Amino acid sequence: MPITAVTGSASGIGAALCAQLREAGHSVIGIDRANADINADLSTDEGRQQAISQVRDRCGDRLDHLVLCAGLGVTAPNTGLILAVNYFAVKALLDGLAPALSKGTEPSAVVVGSVAAVQPGVDQHPIIQTLLKGDEGEALAAIADQDPSLAYAGSKLAVSLLVRSKVHEWAKLGVRLNVVAPGVVETPLYKASTEDARYGEATRNFVAPLGRGSQPAELANVIRFLLSSQASFMHGTVVFADGGMDAMIRPNRF
Ligand code: NAD
Repeated sequence: MPITAVTGSASGIGAALCAQLREAGHSVIGIDRANADINADLSTDEGRQQAISQVRDRCGDRLDHLVLCAGLGVTAPNTGLILAVNYFAVKALLDGLAPALSKGTEPSAVVVGSVAAVQPGVDQHPIIQTLLKGDEGEALAAIADQDPSLAYAGSKLAVSLLVRSKVHEWAKLGVRLNVVAPGVVETPLYKASTEDARYGEATRNFVAPLGRGSQPAELANVIRFLLSSQASFMHGTVVFADGGMDAMIRPNRF
């Protein structure tokens, strides 16, 4: 029975994934702020280290799969928290759990990114290089007065580039690592954005070519595929599961 750790397990995509994995016979270790097997605040270094050590204890330091799903959207209390959870927590858990994954069976990991990463202009913004440099204090200071949508899109682009930068290191460990980039998923995070005074209208009007948002289970299906041996040659890739949004935003690039 594979042992799979999932952050953001208490809601949305993470909760749907945990249900599917349990149904498929995985032993699931859920991590979230509350209502999880491991309750930890991933916005802090202390919470991240607590999550890492508890996962290592629970899996006997042999982890088969890791899914980093926990995230905050544009309605988060502040822009620093968005970077802390969406980027720095992912970086810390990838680094902290890589040794346990390297001892797993056909091990693989998936990071949940977003189609927001392809938002025009984000790739040119200095916050991306600041994030990739890895100094959390510097990045949080740089984003403090910025727009939450920049923090969100920047965190999702940086986390996707972080994954791509690890292809050699993780291949040597024998662990596949990929990103799933959703478009609209009907979850509390998305609902909060649609109701936000600043972003509500634009969020509601941003509709994929398929003409609808997705259900959390549709994303969980893609994540389970990437974790499985059916995806045995997929490594370092960003899989858009967005109803055509990426193709709509940048039809001439991929
Ligand atoms: P959600 O709000 O339903 O779930 C997110 C989970 O992350 C929650 O359970 C929350 O408690 C947890 N979390 C947030 N901050 C945390 C912290 N400090 N410590 C521990 N856990 C924390 O949202 P969702 O839509 O299921 O989001 C899952 C992922 O999908 C996120 O990374 C999000 O950015 C991404 N995503 C969502 C959409 C969408 O439309 N819903 C689109 C693209 C990407």
